[in-house]
Amino acid sequence: TAVLPLPATTRVITISNQKGGVGKTTTAVNLAAALARSGAHVLVVDLDPQGNASTALGVDHRSDQQSVYEVLVADLDLAQVVRRSTEHERLDCVPATIHLAGAEIELVSLVAREQRLRRAIDKHLAAMERPYDYVFIDCPPSLGLLTINAFVAAREVLIPIQCEYYALEGLSQLLSNIELIEKHLNPELRLSTILLTMYDSRTNLAQQVAQEVRDHFPVQTLETIIPRSVRVSEAPSYGQSVISYDYSSSGSLSYREAAAEIAQRAALAAAQKEGI
Ligand code: ADP
Ligand code: MG
Repeated sequence: TAVLPLPATTRVITISNQKGGVGKTTTAVNLAAALARSGAHVLVVDLDPQGNASTALGVDHRSDQQSVYEVLVADLDLAQVVRRSTEHERLDCVPATIHLAGAEIELVSLVAREQRLRRAIDKHLAAMERPYDYVFIDCPPSLGLLTINAFVAAREVLIPIQCEYYALEGLSQLLSNIELIEKHLNPELRLSTILLTMYDSRTNLAQQVAQEVRDHFPVQTLETIIPRSVRVSEAPSYGQSVISYDYSSSGSLSYREAAAEIAQRAALAAAQKEGI
């Protein structure tokens, strides 16, 4: 695996799309695994009560475990719930338990309800001798307070888009929510990356959707497209990323390429900024 450039400061990236089943969790886990292998220190914060990212990273998320839920509603430090993944020594995970399902309601009455995750992450990063290079937040399929917490905690949004008929439906709602957050709660937030997922090159429809997304978002859309691949869907049941499950598979290759693009684009942008 090639070594990739590391960011100067932590990139906090939320992976969001209010639709379920578009590849959010798969993208969070596999990008994180690819970046960890390439030299980065990475944290995945599981913010979905289903706990799929925790499972895929081999981290216990049974209901008796302390998790991001306690961080959000009971002010537990993130340090107390960070676990090392089984995937890679440089890849950690904050698990989600089923208790998180109630947090959406419980948060409503709490002080600074939108800022809770941000405060916890910022505090943790500030206390670390060597802060993470990347923090990925895996969002639930909704635009409620959990996702708002993710938007406030992040600097970047990554939207995975499934190459199918309804792909762009609901996207304008997601984009206007991001704008609202930027305006009122987190001026640094920007849509940095769009990743096309579950692409089936045999169908015209997938090609059309991919083209339409590129037309709308020429800058944000990565060159790399993630193909639909059985290996990708099999990997989590072994508590693995597709990269360790089947390194030379097309899914592994494409997630490694997507990770390289994410690292290199930012490095290029930083270098250009320096040059000015
Ligand atoms: P989300 O987190 O947005 O709900 P997931 O990442 O859980 O979506 O993906 C939904 C389902 O699709 C899962 O069963 C996952 O294994 C499968 N999947 C995701 N990406 C691919 C892919 N590239 N090829 C085949 N199956 C995929
Ligand atoms: Mg998910």
